[in-house]
Amino acid sequence: MIAEVIVDIATSETDRIFDYLCDDSVIVGSRVRAPFGGKILSGFVMKLKESSNLPESRLKKLLPASDELPALTKESLWLAEKIVKRFRVPKALALRLFLPSEMRTGKVRELYRTFAELCVKKEEAQIRKTAKNQLGVLEYLEKNGKTETAVLNNLFPGGLTALEKKGYIRVSKEQILRDPYKTVEGESVEHVLTPDQSAAIERIRADSRTVQLLHGVTGSGKTEIYLNLIAECLKKGQSSIFLVPEISLTPQMLSQLRARFGRNAAILHSGLSAGEKFDEWWRLRTGEAKIAIGARSAVFAPLENLGVIILDEEHDSSYVSETAPRYSTFEVARVRANYNGCKLVLGSATPAVETYKRAKEGEFNLIRLEKRINRKPLPEIVIADMRREVRRGNNSPFSLVLKEEIEKCLESEKQAILFLNRRGYSQTVICKECGYVAKCEACDVSLTYHRDEDCLKCHYCGARYGMLFGCPECGSRKLSYAGTGTQRIVESLQKLYPSARILRMDNDTTSGKEGHYKILKAFGERKADILVGTQMIAKGHDFPAVTLVGILDADMSLHFSDYRSGERTFQLLTQVAGRSGRADEKGKVVLQTFDPENEVLRFATSYDYEGFYENEISLRAAMAFPPFSKIVRVLVTGEDDKKTMETLRATYTELEVLYQNNAEKFLFFNKMRSPIKRIQNKFRYQVLMRLSDVSVLPEIYDICANARSRDALVSVEENPSNLS
Ligand code: ADP
Ligand code: ZN
Ligand code: ZN
Repeated sequence: MIAEVIVDIATSETDRIFDYLCDDSVIVGSRVRAPFGGKILSGFVMKLKESSNLPESRLKKLLPASDELPALTKESLWLAEKIVKRFRVPKALALRLFLPSEMRTGKVRELYRTFAELCVKKEEAQIRKTAKNQLGVLEYLEKNGKTETAVLNNLFPGGLTALEKKGYIRVSKEQILRDPYKTVEGESVEHVLTPDQSAAIERIRADSRTVQLLHGVTGSGKTEIYLNLIAECLKKGQSSIFLVPEISLTPQMLSQLRARFGRNAAILHSGLSAGEKFDEWWRLRTGEAKIAIGARSAVFAPLENLGVIILDEEHDSSYVSETAPRYSTFEVARVRANYNGCKLVLGSATPAVETYKRAKEGEFNLIRLEKRINRKPLPEIVIADMRREVRRGNNSPFSLVLKEEIEKCLESEKQAILFLNRRGYSQTVICKECGYVAKCEACDVSLTYHRDEDCLKCHYCGARYGMLFGCPECGSRKLSYAGTGTQRIVESLQKLYPSARILRMDNDTTSGKEGHYKILKAFGERKADILVGTQMIAKGHDFPAVTLVGILDADMSLHFSDYRSGERTFQLLTQVAGRSGRADEKGKVVLQTFDPENEVLRFATSYDYEGFYENEISLRAAMAFPPFSKIVRVLVTGEDDKKTMETLRATYTELEVLYQNNAEKFLFFNKMRSPIKRIQNKFRYQVLMRLSDVSVLPEIYDICANARSRDALVSVEENPSNLS
């Protein structure tokens, strides 16, 4: 037999099929070890065939395959091909999406342990009296039963192998599965569906379109709908994929899923160790688990016979991959849904403008859930005008109305969440005399002051710098530490309310395994009265005792230089507000802003998604922003400035030809230096384009794939969410 193999190195030189001789044990989709240029590399069998164009004498032989079950399913191989075509990435890179990284690096070898047991009676074995080690093994096994071979080999070197040859002993491999959820126990709360929920499920079932958009206000019971759809598939023996933004894997959600689906569910999240991740993946591959739950990479789960794919919080920006191939989770999910003939259910309280447009135009089925469960009212949102607060002499981060509400909340022994759109103690260091801003030497972005470590840090590369006591430019001592971080909020709060128990959650407090899980769990168990945090606390959590949400700087995210900042702000505010008053008590939200007349804020405070959408879509149409166009950025990065420039120039020249031949398909075409010149010591250049017609997109990918070199990386981003 001849196997067509892709070796697992993602370079353009190795990005082709190599023929190898193999025996019959090799299956399509298997991971194999292949001799290649004097080394043994791992590779994947793409196809088997009878003969090769090369003479057999020139072909090398594959080493025996390491897995009994091929790692890649038929669908995986098919989908990998599609990804290669769409994004022009090396095949090895596309295939890697389908495997846990632990499998490639060989970190999980301890997965199997071998055991030995007797298969004859000890008396029946004929062993010479001098063969002490063989006798030792026999005695040991008779006394202790099945034993790990490692133990026996240690005690009686050589004995085991000899006995196995004689057929007196059976050796078996057993898989050791680590259970990452030993600590998560929970009660299964299966609700009787409300009429609205049942109707929604009925409409999903009855509609023939692949994509179903569930647009339901926060707390309308979308999760219960997903779980029902999944349970139904499980009953029919079908598998499902449930995608969530990583952060939504809250303690409640985890324990609920565990309690409801037990070991039928494999939950893939960043808190798992390498070995645990691999085990969960393996349970899916073998079919032991039929439900894959996780963030965007779970869309590649090795499941067959899919009955439904769910994409919760579909608007979330984490669904777009940040490294090549920059796939959109939605696109991949839709392709898989079509392949399996199943539904893709999108859910959100604030769908992405683009998704909503497609739903309104009939491409997706649009299902609305307008009421919260039990008709609980949405929390009332009060606007606090911070300009007035400053005029009144209040320079603290809290408006008067917010302080009043916090006091009420503490008195009635409820919980509050304070939301802040930043991290660290304060943002940047600015010289009040000359305007100098402290910047990272490698990245050219402003540094952030971290009080606990008394240093300045770069958030792009993690570099640390000592504190500044004078301006390096003009020598002035008038340095200002602008902005407010979560840490300072906590300090001010603690001063105002000495007996309040306060928890903080941001990137600095959540590093390490289960970091945010622990904080949220503690808050959920009411071990704190106030939770102060950044974006991480905005999504998906369900804390019944929270009656107050304070949004400290609502307009902050309006000032990002991104065409989506209005949309992002509306989504964020709605999500955060939705954390309040989820149980019996009516909730309240205080939204602090320096820009109270802003339209986006007005729509958000009245929960008017439709109004927001109409306003936003007409703005986008007027400006020809997506979804009325596609923004494409070609980013060229490299360590050597000159070589990076050269690559940019070469890429640009070809792109310009494309542009000139297709000018009517471009709204904008320009070359410029990327706003952030260096990140992690890499120089960055970009060509920015806006397309009115995406038919030139494949050619853009082609040009960039060919321009890639040893010296510079050339990547293509579609509608990038940040242009730094
Ligand atoms: P969403 O995902 O739309 O924000 P959830 O699914 O979290 O909403 O539901 C909000 C709350 O309502 C949760 O506490 C959930 O347990 C509860 N809930 C959902 N469905 C029902 C039901 N049919 N009966 C009673 N309570 C329900
Ligand atoms: Zn200065
Ligand atoms: Zn840096």
